[in-house]
Amino acid sequence: MTDLDLLAPNTERLSARIAELAGFHDSTFPGWSREVFSEPYRASRQWVREQMADAGLDVVIDAAGNIVGRLPGRRGGGPALVTGSHTDTVRQGGRFDGIVGVMAGIEVARRLRETGVQLEHDLVVVDFLGEEANDFGISCMGSRAIAGVLRPDHLDRTDGTGLRLGDALAGFGLDPDAALRQGWKSGDVHAYVELHVEQGPLLEQSGTAIGVVTAIAGIDRLLVHFAGLAGHAGTTPMADRRDALVSAAAAVLTVERVGCGAPVHGVATSGHIESSPGSMGVITDEARLWAEIRSVDRTWLHGARKQIVDEITAETRARGVDIDVDWLTDQDPVPTSGLVQDVIAQAADHLGDSWKAVPSGAGHDAAHLSRLGPMGMIFVPSVGGRSHCPEELTAAEDIARGAHVLASTLITLDRREEVRHA
Ligand SMILES: [Zn+2]
Repeated sequence: MTDLDLLAPNTERLSARIAELAGFHDSTFPGWSREVFSEPYRASRQWVREQMADAGLDVVIDAAGNIVGRLPGRRGGGPALVTGSHTDTVRQGGRFDGIVGVMAGIEVARRLRETGVQLEHDLVVVDFLGEEANDFGISCMGSRAIAGVLRPDHLDRTDGTGLRLGDALAGFGLDPDAALRQGWKSGDVHAYVELHVEQGPLLEQSGTAIGVVTAIAGIDRLLVHFAGLAGHAGTTPMADRRDALVSAAAAVLTVERVGCGAPVHGVATSGHIESSPGSMGVITDEARLWAEIRSVDRTWLHGARKQIVDEITAETRARGVDIDVDWLTDQDPVPTSGLVQDVIAQAADHLGDSWKAVPSGAGHDAAHLSRLGPMGMIFVPSVGGRSHCPEELTAAEDIARGAHVLASTLITLDRREEVRHA
């Protein structure tokens, strides 16, 4: 038996830990809600910290709120093997998105200790702060900080109540200014590997156990302001109207139409719309639309971005409505490391698991960690392809397979002297 076989996870223990973490949620909403900065999130993080410590990791919470657990390797210091994910959820989310990667990373550390297998490199397991999209319009807060790309203007962003992100971080007991200086050096990471649920249907539909992620989709998020003219709904002739909500509605359909035109993986979604004054009998004078486009194809993404702005600007102006477009985030697609892909695929082959190469339509902390070293991701099937909803489900044995492939991948990468240039 090789070390690769030896590091099979304890499936019951891993499932029990995932179920236990699900207990920390805001029960005023259906499903599982553990949003960043919420009380259940705060409480769960203490539990995660204890889990890491119990697994033998040295745990610190950095200035950006990442929970970082380190299992020293034989060499003591130098570039580390890094794994992890996030434990925040969207509102009314599920029990597996992000959680699986953090709990599997902790399980790998437990199995290393239990089996007496020692790595050359330090193993670092990270629970990244606030990965999900939030009202501040900035996802992956913790992994951005570690990658050194959290900027002062991010801290000045406000949520719907006018709260600054910097103040929210401070209110959570963190140090926003220090978070801006939290970036790791590129030599700190030997490789980064993240296990995550697929959140889509490709693996389940093809009966495949393991997804070897080829690239993480880029995301462009935009906020469009429409400014029309309020008027009486009964007396203003249709031809004389400057109706901001109708312009926004037309823009929703344009966003959808552009998304449908993608040749490879490309999607476009309008997520939220607001209008004022928001009453019957009055023509809307203002509307705001939040939308996003995603693709692993950088060229398509850039083209779609331009097409959306050009088309909705023309449609809106034709209605006599003024338009202003703010880009909230733009993140290029991030390819994963070819070598890490190969190691994941070989680990799956060795363990007798079927695998296929898949793109990631969802954004992940891994995209930011790729700035620091070779990065790879392992997907496990999502039942019905459902995610970001209470029905999100991945079978315990599928999670265990993924955790075993994660352990095998890490141990193989540990024994490679140089991953970066391979
Ligand atoms: Zn996630």
